[in-house]
Amino acid sequence: MARILIVPMEADRRVSVHALAMDLATLLHAETTIAVSGPIVRPAFDASRRQYHSGAMLAMLLEYFSGTDGRILGITSHDLFLPVLTFVFGQAQLGNRGALFSTHRLRNEFYGMPRSDDQLYQRTVKEAMHELGHTYGLRHCLDAPCAMNASTYVEDIDLKPMHFCPACAEVVAAG
Ligand SMILES: [Zn+2]
Ligand SMILES: [Zn+2]
Repeated sequence: MARILIVPMEADRRVSVHALAMDLATLLHAETTIAVSGPIVRPAFDASRRQYHSGAMLAMLLEYFSGTDGRILGITSHDLFLPVLTFVFGQAQLGNRGALFSTHRLRNEFYGMPRSDDQLYQRTVKEAMHELGHTYGLRHCLDAPCAMNASTYVEDIDLKPMHFCPACAEVVAAG
């Protein structure tokens, strides 16, 4: 059974990491655990952009857990960016162990809308599934409603399901 270590990296306390661990275990047929410690995220902060460098944060995560097996999923409340992009919802190593995502832009308040913890949680699960899907070697899925559909806006996340389409699910089931 696949193993996934979930690492809160200054995560939003409104999001239940325990619920996420249970839902990911069910959706991915994986064994999920929550890390009790993780890397200090501050070095990934870019003072001029007032955002956190996604690649740097992912590298810190992989370095910190280099002695462990299985997949690693970082979850943070901080806004993430990559140098060429305004922001990223998350980032993952294609076909490798590391993934990271942010809940910053999954909150309604970010868009001036009323707070909804339920909506925030639904989006959190979808984003976690999406980034983990990349670690299974999945690229963006265009063929069906699927967690691997690309998302540019939060509305795109709302439109897609939590689960994978049959073709993507088959790849995940294989390992
Ligand atoms: Zn993606
Ligand atoms: Zn798919």
